[in-house]
Amino acid sequence: MTAVSSANDVDLFVIGAGSGGVRAARIAASHGARVMIAEEYRIGGTCVIRGCIPKKLLVYASQFPHEFADAAGFGWTVPPAAFDWPTLIANKDKEIARLEGVYRSNLEKVGVEIVKSRAVIEDETTVRLLASGARVRCGHILIATGSAPFGGHPIPGCEHAISSNEALSLPALPAEIVIQGGGYIAIEFASIFAGLGSRVRLVYRGENILRGFDDDVRTHVRNEMEMRGIEVIVGELVTAIDKHDARYTATLTGGRKLAADYVMFAVGRKPNIADLGIEQAGIRTAPLGGIAVDAYSRTSAPNIYAIGDVTNRINLTPVAIREGHAFADTVFGGRPTIVDHTNVPTAVFCEPEIGAVGLTETQARERLGRVDIYKSTFRPLKATLSGRHTRVLMKLVVDGATDRVVGVHIVGEGASEMIQLISVAVKMGATKADVDATMALHPTAAEELVTMREPVARYGNQAAG
Ligand code: NDP
Repeated sequence: MTAVSSANDVDLFVIGAGSGGVRAARIAASHGARVMIAEEYRIGGTCVIRGCIPKKLLVYASQFPHEFADAAGFGWTVPPAAFDWPTLIANKDKEIARLEGVYRSNLEKVGVEIVKSRAVIEDETTVRLLASGARVRCGHILIATGSAPFGGHPIPGCEHAISSNEALSLPALPAEIVIQGGGYIAIEFASIFAGLGSRVRLVYRGENILRGFDDDVRTHVRNEMEMRGIEVIVGELVTAIDKHDARYTATLTGGRKLAADYVMFAVGRKPNIADLGIEQAGIRTAPLGGIAVDAYSRTSAPNIYAIGDVTNRINLTPVAIREGHAFADTVFGGRPTIVDHTNVPTAVFCEPEIGAVGLTETQARERLGRVDIYKSTFRPLKATLSGRHTRVLMKLVVDGATDRVVGVHIVGEGASEMIQLISVAVKMGATKADVDATMALHPTAAEELVTMREPVARYGNQAAG
């Protein structure tokens, strides 16, 4: 055991009880540390309270209308379906409250003291609780305060824009919504609202949505979204929002005016570092924002660590959890542990879903001398009877020199589940020959991954090496 001293009130003070902070607190306590965790809002953080979990519940809700419509081709007559938004929101809130309780009891079971308060760092070893004014002497401090929606650059009427926080608990399903942004949150919420029947207009400043994803994925998803009735407006920004009674009008750069029940901004998130006291503790921030940390998540102040979104590395829940666990093992378990941030699988829960791991085609061509691309688009079997116009995209990016699969990109039903599993193979360094040697499982969509024989493109000098 390291880092445990009776001179302090606690061995570890965790600021923020989100997924990363809670994991760090639990593991540190299980290593014998006396741990206190402060949370000013609700235990569970963004993922549980106003992010991944409630979002995914809404995603499930939004898929039923398609299921009902698809059923006809299979012989079902489904009576006109009715949807009740307040029931969905109430059920979602109930589940979130249950999960919050589970998080709380998991902390309590290992003896972590939970304090409902905002906490401010006074110096390298002292935290002040704003609720009581108490000062806590700490052996170590872990900053796990996460991130919050960025409101965008100030424009007239920007106070009228809602973020994903509000979108998860609107009083009624909007008949019309304008969403600005082209990243994870904008795309997921556009799908949710469109699936539930809202008219959705998506406004994105660049040429094509989902920058950072493989270009084929971006094009494919945009087509699918447009086929589902979402209007994707690119090369535009919202420059003003006006309120008229209970409705809003978004004015775009080109002058177009879009009236809607809500205007939502999903233009990124910012690390929660304001008024935390990081300056007086000598904690430096990184060029991209967020707290600068080394491979062990240690800040420029030796006793203070930071994990998760507040460090702005890879802003995904499982990454924050790993970072929290690694921190606790390093500092309290006597097992220095670095989190490997390569080949992290990711999904966008739009309809159809995106799953991706590793390099995009563009990244591979920038980094590798030889690249082979395998790609397949096909109509899923279910769509043959349902009549739905949708296609699945599967793509393998292979290092032509080593035959290693360096990227997998899937768009289609179940893409997130498929990518989680194939990411094991990618992480293990599977080659295209390994993929080819794997027997197909028929009839599935995933079998396509192991049956792509010929590359659709080869880059680099194939004769060399
Ligand atoms: P993203 O970074 O994914 O997307 C932000 C979008 O907003 C981009 O399209 C960006 O455009 C655009 N944008 C940025 N600044 C402005 C601006 N000033 N005016 C107009 N548009 C702007 O952020 P999100 O908010 O969607 O999500 C935050 C993070 O949360 C994600 O990056 C991800 O890490 C995580 N997340 C993960 C999910 C998942 O795993 N399924 C789901 C939701 C969130 P441009 O591309 O041109 O920069």
